[in-house]
Amino acid sequence: MGECVSLASCEILCVGTELLLGDTLNTNARFLSRELADAGFTLHRQAVVGDNPERLHRDFLTAWERSDFVILTGGLGPTADDITRETVCGALGIELVESPELLEAMQTFFCIRSLEMPKSNRRQAMVPVNAELIMQNSEFSERLSQKRDVINNSAFVFPNPHGTAPGIAITQNGKCAILLPGPPSEMEPMFRQSVRNFLAPWIDGILISHEVRTMGIGESAMAEAVADLLDGQNPSVAPYAKSGEALLRITAKAKTREEAEVLIAPVLEEIKRRLGGFIYGVDVPNVETVLLDKLCKAGKTLCTAESITGGGIAKRLTDCPGASKILLGSIVAYCNEMKQGLLGVSAKTLQENGAVSEQCAIEMAQGARKKIGTDFAISTTGYADGNEQLRANVALDSEAGTQVQHITFARNNRKANKLTAENTALWLLMQNI
Ligand code: ATP
Repeated sequence: MGECVSLASCEILCVGTELLLGDTLNTNARFLSRELADAGFTLHRQAVVGDNPERLHRDFLTAWERSDFVILTGGLGPTADDITRETVCGALGIELVESPELLEAMQTFFCIRSLEMPKSNRRQAMVPVNAELIMQNSEFSERLSQKRDVINNSAFVFPNPHGTAPGIAITQNGKCAILLPGPPSEMEPMFRQSVRNFLAPWIDGILISHEVRTMGIGESAMAEAVADLLDGQNPSVAPYAKSGEALLRITAKAKTREEAEVLIAPVLEEIKRRLGGFIYGVDVPNVETVLLDKLCKAGKTLCTAESITGGGIAKRLTDCPGASKILLGSIVAYCNEMKQGLLGVSAKTLQENGAVSEQCAIEMAQGARKKIGTDFAISTTGYADGNEQLRANVALDSEAGTQVQHITFARNNRKANKLTAENTALWLLMQNI
């Protein structure tokens, strides 16, 4: 994992009252945060401001004062409440003029859709005076491959093949404001096709990160075990939780990949020393991929007998290419009759211990392994929500014997509890291959 890095600071300002009211989910902020982080920019803030010129003016200038890049989305449309272009250019003292080329491109946009262009759309042809209009991406890339000091104190207009509002970039005194349309269907392609190229001259280093994936330990326990390392700046170490797992991301900034790796190596070693037993991989996509790989190398096969997870384990495994050589089959036995009929769980167990008992999980795993004929079988049974005591049992059966693990769920959350049962079963298997 490695990306280029810019030491420039960056903030995102999304404009739109509908975002403030919660009518529209701010997916632009998420998209831009990820893209900017991938490009190596240091994102300092995100904010939302309604369609109010005074507040936008103030918030924009505050952001402009403290950051090198301010990226805005929304408010570039044709109606009176679309205020971004006028407000930002007003704040920067930039005059707007109508671009005949843009007006023509806009008329063509409507014409090929057999629509008449509403008069109000004319506003969208207003661009900063002397802005460079780039209607072809190849030409654009070439222009922007120049050094950033050459493109300082300029304005650029990004084409919008999916709508009528063009994007605008303004560079002034070493800073840059980028105005992008609100609709994600317009903003995202514009970012990928034009803005990325535009940002390239600001990127001048490398950012490397490694992701340490753990299981069997909660996020806070993991963070506690490495608490002193979390204060580091370069490399930085950040804990987070994802799909029921606790992860650590180690990130270093340096001039070259090699230098970044040298910074990371001792910290990664220390993390491995402290969390070794819980780490299932570094820079791996997920636990199921690692598990299938281990089983493949060991020449072993697997089947599942699932109740609470409803085939979720089998789904995750079959999402990985090449799973068919290892996962021979899966039985989803949800009701007692199926546990008995398909897996051979005894009537006595079901009556005396119940369907979510340890004994039932054991018999499910044993029954599946016998029926499907694999080296390993994992089973799950439990109550994911409702009024019962929320709990599950997962079992693993192999030539070496049968093991069972009990889980007590802390929350009444069906989805999260099912995921915990899946992960516990997969982790039990991982520790025993
Ligand atoms: P238009 O030309 O369509 O008016 P615009 O640049 O003026 O574009 P807005 O009017 O602010 O954009 O927003 C148009 C639509 O785009 C919104 O109704 C919403 O559906 C979507 N949108 C705007 N901002 C965001 C955002 N931050 N995240 C997700 N969707 C957004």
